[in-house]
Amino acid sequence: MNNMSTLFGSMVFNDAVMKERLPKDTYKALKKTIQDGKTLDSSIANIVANAMKDWAIEKGVTHFTHWFQPMTGITAEKHDSFISPNADGTIIMEFSGKELIKGEPDASSFPSGGLRATFEARGYTAWDPTSYAFIKDGILCIPTAFCSYGGEALDKKTPLLRSMEAINKQALRVLKLFGNEDVSRVLTTVGPEQEYFLIDKTLYDQRKDLIYTGRTLFGAKPPKGQELEDHYFGAIKPRVAAYMKELDEELWKLGILAKTKHNEVAPAQHELAPIFTTTNIATDHNQLTMEMMKKVATRHGLVCLLHEKPFAGVNGSGKHNNWSVSTNTGVNLLEPGKSPYENAQFLLFLCAVIKAVDEYQDLLRISVANAGNDHRLGANEAPPAIVSMFLGDELTEILEAIDSGSAYEGRETSVMKIGVDVLPNFPKDTTDRNRTSPFAFTGNKFEFRMLGSTFSISGPNVILNTIVAEALSQFADTLEGVSDFTAALNDLIKSTIKTHKRIIFNGNNYADEWVKEAEARGLYNLKSTPEALPYFVSDKNVKLFLKHKVFTETELHSRYEILLEGYGKTINIEALTMLDMVKKDILPAAISYVKELADTVVAKKAISSSISSDAETQIIEKLSLLSSSLYKKTEELEQSLLDVKNCSSELELATYYKETVFVAMQELRAVADEIETLVGEKYWPYPTYGQLLFNV
Ligand code: ADP
Ligand code: MG
Repeated sequence: MNNMSTLFGSMVFNDAVMKERLPKDTYKALKKTIQDGKTLDSSIANIVANAMKDWAIEKGVTHFTHWFQPMTGITAEKHDSFISPNADGTIIMEFSGKELIKGEPDASSFPSGGLRATFEARGYTAWDPTSYAFIKDGILCIPTAFCSYGGEALDKKTPLLRSMEAINKQALRVLKLFGNEDVSRVLTTVGPEQEYFLIDKTLYDQRKDLIYTGRTLFGAKPPKGQELEDHYFGAIKPRVAAYMKELDEELWKLGILAKTKHNEVAPAQHELAPIFTTTNIATDHNQLTMEMMKKVATRHGLVCLLHEKPFAGVNGSGKHNNWSVSTNTGVNLLEPGKSPYENAQFLLFLCAVIKAVDEYQDLLRISVANAGNDHRLGANEAPPAIVSMFLGDELTEILEAIDSGSAYEGRETSVMKIGVDVLPNFPKDTTDRNRTSPFAFTGNKFEFRMLGSTFSISGPNVILNTIVAEALSQFADTLEGVSDFTAALNDLIKSTIKTHKRIIFNGNNYADEWVKEAEARGLYNLKSTPEALPYFVSDKNVKLFLKHKVFTETELHSRYEILLEGYGKTINIEALTMLDMVKKDILPAAISYVKELADTVVAKKAISSSISSDAETQIIEKLSLLSSSLYKKTEELEQSLLDVKNCSSELELATYYKETVFVAMQELRAVADEIETLVGEKYWPYPTYGQLLFNV
């Protein structure tokens, strides 16, 4: 790559391209649609579509697709060519405004959580002009929202856009109270840091568990793991560096601001972070990033594992969702200001987040719940699944001073009054010392760290936007029309801190004491997906989503079903894969090895009865016992799967998978892993953890 400036965004129909290629009026109308969320006139859509098509054809594109994000968590596309027949048998390349704006994929083959029973199978995709069209693999991709014919959202983009609208509306009410007349739009921004593993493709291809489930279901601990802490930020190996370079270039072409890359804690684990952008674009970009990570890996003979816990005993992968709120005038509302007045506004937005996180811990927890992430949250190798907030000592001291009405830092003479006293400037680097907090203030944004690496960031941001919108809405209700704004603001901030300070925890979240302490504070500890999910449809939460028009009640229930179902299906596939691996590969391997040993004993005896066969005999004994045990555990797991039919609801089923099937899987694995340590390497059917983790 020699010219970065021509490479970046070269595959994106972005603002610069639109400006260059669209008639002035059309460009202006489109900009207005993008900025104000206005609907687009069909004559304008035709002009835009045509310009898009011409631009794409110049780049060798022949097809377009409505690119959307169904509830599978990955993206979907169906390709249509631009060709249109003429009467004389020739063709022209056509792309109409109608085709740009609306598509009609069959909705019946995507998860809908019961929605397809009540609605037509047909669904439609609608262009989201707030996210730029782009070219991927020679296809013009139009970012779209995906709905059922009745208008119920079937995707991850629609509720995200709704939640952004909700927080925009409520934040504007609050900003007006502070006299910000020039602000017309408030947007949330996100920079998601993405973790992943890279392993050799030839080794990957030999592991059914990785192929079918994305994680290893068996594998004894290698002699070396991550205990030396020599991988984090370590020198990047040439093969990985070549991969990262190509990945960056692919992402840059798509206008994705890939910025930082480094090795992570576990061997073979790495991270990529982009520069933050508007939440819906960040979401599209993160989906594309994950897709590209996998695609580019195969070109390097590698496989990119995005699973939350590909290997037991070493760190899993997550995603850090750096989130903030800013105005169209360029003000970050979570950035402490320089004047007292700005700081009062900052404190109110900070309080909104504190209140939101405390009141809706359950929703935040649910937004990061799936079978894969259950290995990272609340499991034995992982931090607890408790949601709490880290604010740093300085900010916490300020809040405590406000709460107690006492003086802060050498200000013995004056009781701290928000909006009157000048708050100190918070040096950014003092606020991010706690790496164990699930939700940390990092100077001018919050970092939500509980996301799993496979997740679409849509879900967690839908929740964040909506719960903060709710807190802001209550604040606006309280403050609008009061006669003494400063006094009312003081009271509000004070009472919010008093009520919600239990959610603030600056200590070590990984310590056992925190679990007890959190319980004493009355915080939730929802350890697994089946435990967390029912809260999704509690009265309190249904009310929230309806009020802010983020989900209808039907949509909520459909999503709840999809999540429960997804959990059970995941465990079921894992269990079936384990059974297959044990019966087809692991038991036969143990048996062959025992036979080899037994043959050796016989051969030795034939030579002379005085030759010792102690080693062989002992291994035979151990392996025979373990093999019997393995077989028994296999039968138990099989039986547990047969008993699935006794469950009468989706929730009961998910709970059963967790409490019975998953437990049987763990027991089976323990025996198989022990067998692995005894069987000769050339008999073992799979690449070992050592090979997988240290081979690239
Ligand atoms: P670190 O977490 O290593 O200290 P940074 O704080 O620079 O690194 O940024 C981490 C991520 O947070 C990056 O993706 C960055 O773009 C993003 N980020 C920075 N500012 C904001 C913001 N205002 N809103 C959302 N994300 C942000
Ligand atoms: Mg970070």
